[in-house]
Amino acid sequence: MASGANRNGMHKGTVKPPSAANSSNLKSSSFKSRLPPSNQSPGSALRRTNSASFTAAARDDGVPGRVRVAVRLRPRNAEELVADADFADCVELQPELKRLKLRKNNWDSETYEFDEVLTEFASQKRVYEVVAKPVVESVLDGYNGTVMAYGQTGTGKTFTLGRLGEEDTSARGIMVRSMEEILANVSLETDSVTVSYLQLYMEAIQDLLDPANDNISIVEDPKTGDVSLPGATHVEIRDEHSFLELLRLGEAHRIAANTKLNTESSRSHAILMVHVKRSVLGAEDAIPSEIDKSSHFVKPPKPLVRKSKLVLVDLAGSERIHKSGSEGHMLEEAKSINLSLSALGKCINALAENSAHVPVRDSKLTRLLRDSFGGTARTSLIVTIGPSPRHRGETASTILFGQRAMKVENMLRIKEEFDYKSLARRLEIQLDKLIAENERQQKAFDDEVERINLEAQNRVSEVERDFTDALEKERLKCQMEYMESVKKLEEKMIENQRKHGCDGFMNDKCNGKGPGFSIAEDVAEVKKLLEKEINMRKEAEEEVNKLKSQLRQCTDSGAGGAAEILKLQKALEDEGHQKKKLEEEIIILRSQMLQLTFEAEQMRRCLGRGGSGNAYTGLDSPMSQVRDSLNGHKTPVAALFEQVGLQKILALLESEDPNVRIHAVKVVANLAAEEANQERIVEAGGLTSLLMLLRSYEDETVHRVAAGAIANLAMNEANQELIMVQGGISLLSMTASDAEDPQTLRMVAGAIANLCGNDKLQSKLRSEGGIKALLGMVRCGHLDVLSQVARGIANFAKCESRASTNGIKSGRSLLIDDGALPWIVQNANNDSAPIRRHIELALCHLAQHEVNAKDMICGGALWELVRISQDCSREDIRSLARRTLNSSPVFRAEMRRLRIEL
Ligand code: ADP
Ligand code: MG
Repeated sequence: MASGANRNGMHKGTVKPPSAANSSNLKSSSFKSRLPPSNQSPGSALRRTNSASFTAAARDDGVPGRVRVAVRLRPRNAEELVADADFADCVELQPELKRLKLRKNNWDSETYEFDEVLTEFASQKRVYEVVAKPVVESVLDGYNGTVMAYGQTGTGKTFTLGRLGEEDTSARGIMVRSMEEILANVSLETDSVTVSYLQLYMEAIQDLLDPANDNISIVEDPKTGDVSLPGATHVEIRDEHSFLELLRLGEAHRIAANTKLNTESSRSHAILMVHVKRSVLGAEDAIPSEIDKSSHFVKPPKPLVRKSKLVLVDLAGSERIHKSGSEGHMLEEAKSINLSLSALGKCINALAENSAHVPVRDSKLTRLLRDSFGGTARTSLIVTIGPSPRHRGETASTILFGQRAMKVENMLRIKEEFDYKSLARRLEIQLDKLIAENERQQKAFDDEVERINLEAQNRVSEVERDFTDALEKERLKCQMEYMESVKKLEEKMIENQRKHGCDGFMNDKCNGKGPGFSIAEDVAEVKKLLEKEINMRKEAEEEVNKLKSQLRQCTDSGAGGAAEILKLQKALEDEGHQKKKLEEEIIILRSQMLQLTFEAEQMRRCLGRGGSGNAYTGLDSPMSQVRDSLNGHKTPVAALFEQVGLQKILALLESEDPNVRIHAVKVVANLAAEEANQERIVEAGGLTSLLMLLRSYEDETVHRVAAGAIANLAMNEANQELIMVQGGISLLSMTASDAEDPQTLRMVAGAIANLCGNDKLQSKLRSEGGIKALLGMVRCGHLDVLSQVARGIANFAKCESRASTNGIKSGRSLLIDDGALPWIVQNANNDSAPIRRHIELALCHLAQHEVNAKDMICGGALWELVRISQDCSREDIRSLARRTLNSSPVFRAEMRRLRIEL
């Protein structure tokens, strides 16, 4: 508390800071720096610390904010410059120390410390910045704020607060500058700034914006204690210009009112109230939780409003408190005029002394400023003093007032409330957006469902139609084929039986069952199978009809359609599989029928010729087939083959089922036996498939039949090259080395023998082991096999001889190179005529070239040649042998040596 004189002139009036924190504040270098910087202002700090727990109610906590007091000295005016020319100022300022020395007399002074000491040279801008700006910033942050000027009349209160600075902008006072700052910081779209301008005179509140309104009552919110003046005019400010207009208007009204009341402005208090309402976005977690639950909801930030109030008070001259009575003023007026000021003084005293009772209610001014002193507002007080020693008393009392005010501790609190209106508006917009989006999505969804349904229905009916058509076609075709085949078979059988009478044959073969009977049985079986198949088809058709009616039901029932359609599609798929299976079976049945037909035909031929039946005649009887095909009419085999389709039969070669495979290869072999079919088989890839069978399966029957088919195809020169290109020799060699069955070996040997007859393939065939494979097969000793080997060797020797004669080949025979000579010599006189013939020919071909002669002599071939030249039953061969021997000097020399004569 300020106290009396300090002889040492030191810190006599220093106000004891209310707390340690404030003590450091007091000692800091500037008024402004003692307030937290704007980004660390109590407001901002508060916002940060409380951001997670915002509530609609005012915050419970607050930050301490002592009333800040600055002292401002007015420069000497013209009168003082003259009148006080010989006297020193009554105060001496030490702004750097924030001290003021009040001279008591020439040798004694008292020192006071303030938050800010502003000399007579302090600019209006600086005064605004150190006194008002921190308060304005707090107001923008949502706190209430007060800037009040206190001092003797004529010391510059109005100059400090109310100057408009119209001619000189640097002269603008705190009111104008505050509004400038507020307008620069608020958003005119979301925030609002309204102003009331009032005068308090003789405990009556007059509206300076509406002079008729001269007794405005104060309303206090019993809950919050908030004070408001609902009767006052509130003018919304959107720009500085309108504010200046308003201040001017207020000032004019003030002068008029004071004239009317026969008073002066210095006797009244002028109060400018600026209400700032700002929208801020709060934390999101405060949004009601039901809304959170919706995943589509985009949480709007919580809309909050901060309402704050800046009160700028230009008090009546403080001298009146002391001088009123003594200077003869009417007691009543003096009382009234000073009531507010003295009450303010009392309140500040009470607050400064932490007194239990603060007489706030004693005056309208204290009621209005309730929040400014001891409340939640940030308050700055500027005490204005003049330099004249004549007013030392007034100056001293002003200084003491300021000192006491410095002790008043406010608790700064922000007031925030939910902006329910804004929240409702935002939610409504959000809701409308969601409704529209939902509607759009629903529509898109419905469209999509409809589209899928339609598409599915179309697809189902399409598949259904195709299937029914295919089924019907297939059924008719099958029936026709079946009937025709059966008819033909029966005709043929009857014819056969009539022609040959089957008794003897029947007894000869198959233990009393003749081929006709067996075939009839087979045909009956095939018939049965076909009937079974037809029944299955019927069932399938019924199933389709059932599905159709189900589909109709589904289509009718609408909504559940999609699932049903899927089910139907699945069923249709199953039906498709079944159909495929049936088709496969049909092919098998048909090819079985083909086989049977073929066998029947063979039988017929054999009966016709009286020879032995042979299922795979290809090697020995190509002529008979050629003859048949030349006869002009198609054989039943060929007819059936056309009906079934080659591709389907070839596809069966790769069937998983070994029986089907064997069956198919038999059919292909039979087809290959007919020259007419060979080209088509090769074109359709049949040769490749047959070679594949040799490579991929170990089944001897498959090997035998496939090799037979290959042998038949190998009769054609073009096919021979194809076989070679596809590695046929090594496959046949491999098959030969694995095979035990003489029939298999016979087929393989036959195939190689055919290849041996191709001039172009000689060296390739030999280099791939063809000759060795041939020679290897003689191990089995079966005459049929040996005969094919001999044929092969003869073919090879013939080609070789031709090549040598043409000068294409030189050097020893490859047959001799591969060690064929011993076997040739050994079998030259074989009992089997076909073997003998082939070997005799081979020997003749070999002997035609001198280069082989030596080896032949060593190998004993000469004797055989001599024998041939003398004994061979065939005249042409006999003379060929003789000619050959005679034309060879080597042979002749050897014969001379051995005394052989031809
Ligand atoms: P108050 O409102 O306290 O009665 P005023 O603001 O009316 O005092 O000031 C009285 C006179 O002093 C006015 O003419 C004003 O221009 C002048 N005055 C006040 N303060 C200053 C100052 N700091 N610098 C220059 N002139 C000032
Ligand atoms: Mg004034």
